[in-house]
Amino acid sequence: MKLSRSREETLDLPGYLAGQPLRTDGTLEVFNPFSGALVGTVSLAGRDHLDRACEEALAWKGSLTRYQRHEVLLKARSLLQQRAEEFALLVTRESGLCLRDTTYEVGRALDVLQCAAVEALKDEGQVFSGDVSAHGKARKIFTLREPVPLVGAIAPFNHPLNQVVHKIAPAVAAGAPLILKPSEKTPLAAIRFAELLYQAGLPGPMLSVLLGSVGEFAEPLVLHDRIEAVTFTGSGAVGRRLAAIAGYKKLCLELGGNSPLLILEDADLELAAGLAAEGCYRNSGQRCTAVKRLLVHERVLEPFTRLLVEKTGEYRAGDPEEWTTRVGTVIDEAAVVGLERRVEEAVEAGARVLRGGRRKGALMEPTVVADVPRTCKMVVNESFGPLAPILAIRDLEDGIDLANATAYGLSAGVVTRDIQAAIRAVKGIRTGTVNVNQVPGYRIESTPFGGVKDSGLGIKEGVIEAMKFMSTVKTFSLPW
Ligand code: NAP
Repeated sequence: MKLSRSREETLDLPGYLAGQPLRTDGTLEVFNPFSGALVGTVSLAGRDHLDRACEEALAWKGSLTRYQRHEVLLKARSLLQQRAEEFALLVTRESGLCLRDTTYEVGRALDVLQCAAVEALKDEGQVFSGDVSAHGKARKIFTLREPVPLVGAIAPFNHPLNQVVHKIAPAVAAGAPLILKPSEKTPLAAIRFAELLYQAGLPGPMLSVLLGSVGEFAEPLVLHDRIEAVTFTGSGAVGRRLAAIAGYKKLCLELGGNSPLLILEDADLELAAGLAAEGCYRNSGQRCTAVKRLLVHERVLEPFTRLLVEKTGEYRAGDPEEWTTRVGTVIDEAAVVGLERRVEEAVEAGARVLRGGRRKGALMEPTVVADVPRTCKMVVNESFGPLAPILAIRDLEDGIDLANATAYGLSAGVVTRDIQAAIRAVKGIRTGTVNVNQVPGYRIESTPFGGVKDSGLGIKEGVIEAMKFMSTVKTFSLPW
């Protein structure tokens, strides 16, 4: 079944500067990676608009009570729920991700809003008694959190809606004004989502969503002296650059991954093959936590590989708007060409393609590659697409060493029935998350999320941690 809306519709969207539509002479065109059709245009903002957005946010002297923030988030959630199909279709058209994936993404965005609405109501202050040591006084010491005056946020293309909601919803919950720059590849859902928030009652100065070039807008946003905190999600290369130039500023960097799934000798292999396929192929393999390396105990290599090849047959790549499609496109043809090159290079080094490997336009078939040498770019770097590279491991320790052998440290999974082995893996793998008998990317929206090494500085996201990032603790004391 296809959604019936006309393919001809092209959106003509403004940016939003402090709640007001911004129309400029410069526009960016967004094309459907599958069909090549023009999906929409967006007005481009420049340095002057950034300055104005900062001024208007900081000049605004209003504030919302916890209850008002809670209400705005719930109202926006309800509006998004009413238009869930439309948002899923829009994300599909701008990103090429299949409707199954984008429908799931909208559901996750609803969860983020619900979680943020709940967190907005909670008081996270602490109380300490002063008279607890010989030097103490009869006082009480309290903490409260105050919103950062202005936050800058930059989002990637791979979850065009949910990445954006993970920036905006915690800011609203914490009461911090925010200026967001979405990805130029997928800005449409972000702008539409901002409209829902204004409709839900969010005061305009609390949110600007503006698209501008890296030189004119994105880097100036990071460098801007009125913006005290910047939250960035994207590639390691850009994250490192931002860390180098940002200067005296709070910085949250959520960067790339190269997540391993360890499949141990005693694993339930049906479960392992299912997790491997979901982990490698969902969202066309374009999740920071997607499984990028299958590290399989040599004694179960053959049956696991057989099961995975079979399972891969269920993941049909095709028209993203067909419900039967399990894998849509990657973001563009250049990305597919890069993936294809990585597969060829692995094959030249001795790997074997067991299933998939073909491409058409921006579509890449889910591809199982066996006997992948440990030094291939496909598994040393992040290969952002539906590839399933299999590497043999001798034992758990070898698996942990190999899991740790890349520059990344975002997430990992281990499939085993042995609790001791699971604990050893949790302790031994240096990543932000380790999931047992689950894909590396499993989480709920309130749990701390984020990586170490080249995947991030260890400053977490997830609604609760993001609210902490977007606020500062004030300590005060009273005589008691
Ligand atoms: P990207 O190329 O780093 O771009 C991310 C964002 O940064 C885009 O909005 C981009 O703008 C902007 N940007 C690029 N250069 C910039 C600069 N010099 N200064 C300021 N902003 C700049 O990443 P991507 O290709 O969109 O996203 C995929 C990457 O994100 C993958 O590596 C993935 O693993 C990672 N990711 C990480 C997480 C996580 O939570 N750890 C989650 C999702 C994705 P333009 O679009 O205008 O270029």
